[in-house]
Amino acid sequence: MFKHTLYKNKTAVILGAGKSGLACGSLLKKKGIKFCYWDENKKLFPKQDILSYDFFIKSPGISWQNKVLKQIKKAKKPVFSELEVAISYLPKGCKIFAITGTNGKTTTTTMLGAILKEYAKEEGKHRQVYVLGNIGTPIASKIGKIKENSLVVVEVSSYQLEDSTYFNPHASAILNITPDHLDHHGSYKKYIEAKAKIFKHQKAQQVLVINGSDEVCSSFAKKAKCRIFSFSSTPKKILKSDVFYDGDEIIFASGSRVRPPKDLIGIHNIENVMAASLVAFACGVHPSSVQRAMDKFKNIEHRIEYFATKKGVKYYNDSKATNVDSTLIALKALQTDKKLWLILGGLDKGAPYTPLAKEIQKNCKHIVLIGSASPKIAGELKNLCPITDCKTLDKAVSFIYKNAKKGDICLLSPACASFDQFKSFEERGKVFKELVSKLK
Ligand code: ADP
Repeated sequence: MFKHTLYKNKTAVILGAGKSGLACGSLLKKKGIKFCYWDENKKLFPKQDILSYDFFIKSPGISWQNKVLKQIKKAKKPVFSELEVAISYLPKGCKIFAITGTNGKTTTTTMLGAILKEYAKEEGKHRQVYVLGNIGTPIASKIGKIKENSLVVVEVSSYQLEDSTYFNPHASAILNITPDHLDHHGSYKKYIEAKAKIFKHQKAQQVLVINGSDEVCSSFAKKAKCRIFSFSSTPKKILKSDVFYDGDEIIFASGSRVRPPKDLIGIHNIENVMAASLVAFACGVHPSSVQRAMDKFKNIEHRIEYFATKKGVKYYNDSKATNVDSTLIALKALQTDKKLWLILGGLDKGAPYTPLAKEIQKNCKHIVLIGSASPKIAGELKNLCPITDCKTLDKAVSFIYKNAKKGDICLLSPACASFDQFKSFEERGKVFKELVSKLK
C-alpha cells in the first residue's frame, strides 16, 4: 500500500509521462518525493539503472507485458497506480464513488456527479463534489484543492483497475461487460478480472451496483462482500432487479420514481440513469436531488448529440461511436424508419461491420463513407441501402446536404477510430458540427 510516511524519502520512477503520469509527477513534487520519468515514446529515461530506484508509479496505458515492467516485477519492486497514490493523499472524510463498465462510463459518471452536486446543495454543508479519473482529470491533479469530506466521483477504466491492489470505493457501479481492450489485457478473462477489482476490496457496508441483465456483472454478485443492488432495463433478468422502467418513469423498489432526462435517448441511457440513481439512493441521497439533477441534465457532447436542423434535416453527432457496438446502440436508440443518412468509417479496428446489417436495413436511406475503412465497410454492408464513398467528412456533409429531404436525419456514428483523419473522436465531432453549422 502506498503511504506518504513510508515513501517520502524514497526515489520513484513514473512509468509513462502522459496525462496521469504528469499529474502524479506534480503531486510527488509538491510532496517532496524525488522522482524521474521513464517514457519510451517521449524518449525520457532515468539517469541511473531503472532497478536502482525504490518504487514505481505505472501509467494505465503501459502493458504489464512491457519488458521494463517485467524486469521491475521480477526484482519485486513496489509498483503503484496513479489512482491509488493520489487517493492516499485525499483528506479526511472524503468518499469515493467509482464507475466502470465497457460502455456508458462517462455518461453515468457525469450523471452521478450532477446528482451529488444537487445533494450537496440540499444538504447545505458546503460539501465539495469532484468528477475525476478516466473522464479527463486525474485525481492527482486535484490533490491540495480537494477539502475534507468531499464526494469524489471517479470514472475508472479497466486499465486503471488492473493496476489497483487495494482500491475500495465507498460505492461502485459496473454498467456492463463485453469483450474490449483484449490486446492490452491479453484475454477476456483478464479484462473481466480487472473490472472485478472495483469491488474486490469493498467491505460489508459499502455498495456495489451491477447490471442484472449482464451475464458477467451478474456473476459478480456471488463474489462481492458488500451490499449489492441490481438494475435491469429488459425483461431478461439474471438477477432480481431493484428498479424497473415503465416507459415513462424509472421506478425503484423503495417506491421512489425518477423521470429520466428529456435530452437523452435510448434504453442504454435509461440504464445509466438507473445505475447513477441506485448508487445515490444507496448512499442516502434524497429522490428530490436525483430528480433535480435529471431535469437539468444535458446530453454529453459526441454521444448521440442532436445539435442542428438544416433544411428540415436533423443532425446528430455520435463521434464517440468508435466501435460497431456503439453504432448499433445509436441506430437502435434513434429508430428512424429509413430516413437516416449514416456516416460510417475512419480507421478500422478489425471487428466485422455485419452486426449492423439488420438495423441499417431498418433505418438507413443511405450510407455515406469516409476514411480508410471504406472498402471493407462497403464490402460487408452492400445491398442493404445505397452507399456513397465520399472519402472525407466535408464531402460527406455537402453530399448529404444536397441530397437529404425534409424530415430526414443525418447521423455521424462512424463505428471506427478517428486517427486516420483526425486527432481524436472529439476533434472529428467538432469538425462535423462546424461543417454543419456553416450550411445555410
Ligand atoms: P464510455 O465512457 O464507457 O466510453 P460513454 O458514456 O462515453 O461511455 O458512452 C459512449 C457510447 O457508449 C455511447 O455513445 C453509447 O453508444 C454507448 N453506451 C452508453 N451507455 C451505455 C450503456 N449503458 N450500455 C451500452 N452502451 C452504452
